[in-house]
Amino acid sequence: YEAKFGNYGTRTFSSVLNQALIDRRELEQEMASALKHGGFELHYQPQCDQNGRVAAFEALLRFTHPTLGVVPPSRLVPIAEESEMIISLGTWVLREACRQNRQWQVEGYPPVRVAVNISSMQFAREDFADRVAEVLDETGLAPQFLELELTESVVVKDFTESTRQLQRLKRLGVSIAIDDFGTGYSSLNYLHRLPIDRLKIDRSFIQLLNAPNSTLPILEAIISMAKNMELGVVGEGVETDEQMAMLCLKGCDLLQGFLYSRPVSADRAKFLLHAGPLYESLMREDALAVA
Ligand code: C2E
Ligand code: MG
Ligand code: MG
Ligand code: MG
Repeated sequence: YEAKFGNYGTRTFSSVLNQALIDRRELEQEMASALKHGGFELHYQPQCDQNGRVAAFEALLRFTHPTLGVVPPSRLVPIAEESEMIISLGTWVLREACRQNRQWQVEGYPPVRVAVNISSMQFAREDFADRVAEVLDETGLAPQFLELELTESVVVKDFTESTRQLQRLKRLGVSIAIDDFGTGYSSLNYLHRLPIDRLKIDRSFIQLLNAPNSTLPILEAIISMAKNMELGVVGEGVETDEQMAMLCLKGCDLLQGFLYSRPVSADRAKFLLHAGPLYESLMREDALAVA
């Protein structure tokens, strides 16, 4: 007990729980105020083609609490979902990502897509596609430069309704990616019936490529399935030369991960747009040779 709860000193377990609730409420209030006064930020992580060129940026929510410090989205999103703040926060994310992407285009940078994570609660709203249309209209971003990331579980929850929602979105001209692909519990037979554009292979499959029970067969299966269905495929969480080389060898179109870049501020993302390839293809051949 001492070792496990050492940080909490002599406080009882229930007072620790109590404190957690207070922290949570405080965080929720802080988030509500941040949403009003501009306290949220987006960071951008590149998705590169096999030659290391930036093809897209994934927008990732960032929040720094005045006393708690940086709060990760894995903590923010559930809190925002509980209070339904996720609807207005999600719209802010969408608008900010589109505005920023359009801004880069206006400044003359080569056009790329921006990929925005969409929560299940946003996707479930009947007027979601209308919100997306409004944001595109307001920001002037052409729809082919916006991608929406949805997880498998969100899409298969209500297949009929999801299909309708996806069709509305597709009619706008935006693209759809299935995030964390392979971690859901869904059957594969739903996939070919959904109007989607890309699969994002969950990073767990990439990080276990070199494990004793390699995930390589799964990776190969996902990539070849994506190819057969004419879907694009993104490898997530690429951290090493070997992982990158293997994904390229197997035909993965896009790669995203710390090997290329961590998520960075909008200012730094802009530099990545004219920095040339983030990874030299020469180095890729070296890595392939040793893989
Ligand atoms: P995700 O959509 O799967 O985003 C990728 C996450 O993997 C990001 O974490 C990113 O920083 C991390 N990552 C990228 N490359 C690597 C790598 O090479 N190694 C490792 N270990 N991690 C890597 P982040 O930013 O903490 O976001 C976590 C999750 O929070 C996201 O997972 C997404 O589900 C959610 N999220 C983030 N921003 C938003 C948002 O604006 N709206 C909603 N609804 N969810 C969001
Ligand atoms: Mg994502
Ligand atoms: Mg993901
Ligand atoms: Mg993930």
